[in-house]
Amino acid sequence: MMRLPWFEFRAPSSVAEAARILAAEGPDAMPIAGGTDLLPNMKRRHQTPRTLVSLRRIESLKKVSNGAGLTLGAGLTLTEVIHEPKAQPYGALRQAAAQVATVHLRNMGTLGGNLCLDTRCTYYNQNYEWRKAIDFCLKKDGGICWVATASKRCVAMSSTDCAPALIAIGAKAKLVSATDERELALESLYNNDGIEYLKRRPDEILTEIRLPPAAGWRSTYWKLRRRGAFDFPVLGVAAAARFAKDGTVEEARIALGAVASRPFLVPKAAEALVGKKLTDDVIAEAATLAASRAKPMDNADLDLYWRKQVAADFVGYALRELRGDDMRGTRLRIARQIL
Ligand SMILES: Cc1cc2nc3c(=O)[nH]c(=O)nc-3n(C[C@H](O)[C@H](O)[C@H](O)COP(=O)(O)OP(=O)(O)OC[C@H]3O[C@@H](n4cnc5c(N)ncnc54)[C@H](O)[C@@H]3O)c2cc1C
Repeated sequence: MMRLPWFEFRAPSSVAEAARILAAEGPDAMPIAGGTDLLPNMKRRHQTPRTLVSLRRIESLKKVSNGAGLTLGAGLTLTEVIHEPKAQPYGALRQAAAQVATVHLRNMGTLGGNLCLDTRCTYYNQNYEWRKAIDFCLKKDGGICWVATASKRCVAMSSTDCAPALIAIGAKAKLVSATDERELALESLYNNDGIEYLKRRPDEILTEIRLPPAAGWRSTYWKLRRRGAFDFPVLGVAAAARFAKDGTVEEARIALGAVASRPFLVPKAAEALVGKKLTDDVIAEAATLAASRAKPMDNADLDLYWRKQVAADFVGYALRELRGDDMRGTRLRIARQIL
């Protein structure tokens, strides 16, 4: 049985108080929301914070508000996000959140926790004894990356489902600390580095996600995983587009997840759609451009070359769904692993 290490537990009731504790305790303190990722990580000694600062009692992190667009509190559970009526126009977010883990984990896991999710790797997501037997790895306790042995950079991969979806939607993230607050485009929250995967400082709390108005936009999220029932993504494709009345694409964004240490936009692929209708040829061109940016590593489930190969197919599925094709059969086929 894997046991948790000892830790101090603090449960503030406001963001200001939580930020004060994080500032006072320094990098040995970590926020905890649902704990669905952090607690298993602590059991495996990936992370060993001296103090956990629980965000669960902070009501302001659960707010949902309209204005120009939609603001979602980082403390909303994924189940709350899925069922939030105001979030329904943001199809990609709903589809991504609904495909995270299982019902139980979505009832506990939060949007903020999902966006700050630790990166994953075959050589890292193992218990302490397993990791010790290979003399650990670059991400934690060791000096070598077993995936790319010459690499000075950890290549553990970003495995959050909601981040690519929200990046394609054009969301912004608000970070609050004891001394300041800032807002940044969600894609700018991430570094392509398996260790320092977030630009969030240890004393900052992700408080809100701001989504732009959805009017005129359609968005979708497609996920590749081994088991249709539940599994982390080994490829995530999110696409969003604003259409003119005649079906011409006026604006578009395509984001990829689980093929690097960060989720990222592929502007060239999106540009290939603008000013055009989504014909099969236009979709094929954008899919090829997007897939060329997918650089999966041999550190996750399913064959590396096959994952790279199907990236274009998945971008194609996403764009065909945006075009209005009925893709339910394809989704079902993927969920049943008939690829
Ligand atoms: C079996 C299993 C399957 C899973 N499958 C998936 C999957 O398919 N897709 C997927 O995306 N995830 C998956 N997860 C991971 C996890 O359950 C979800 O990502 C969940 O949304 C994490 O949210 P949480 O609130 O539990 O985060 P926590 O575990 O509480 O925190 C995760 C990280 O985020 C930080 N954090 C949390 N909230 C904030 C905040 N507001 N501000 C700053 N930092 C914060 C924590 O310090 C920690 O580093 C899975 C987990 C398990 C155990």
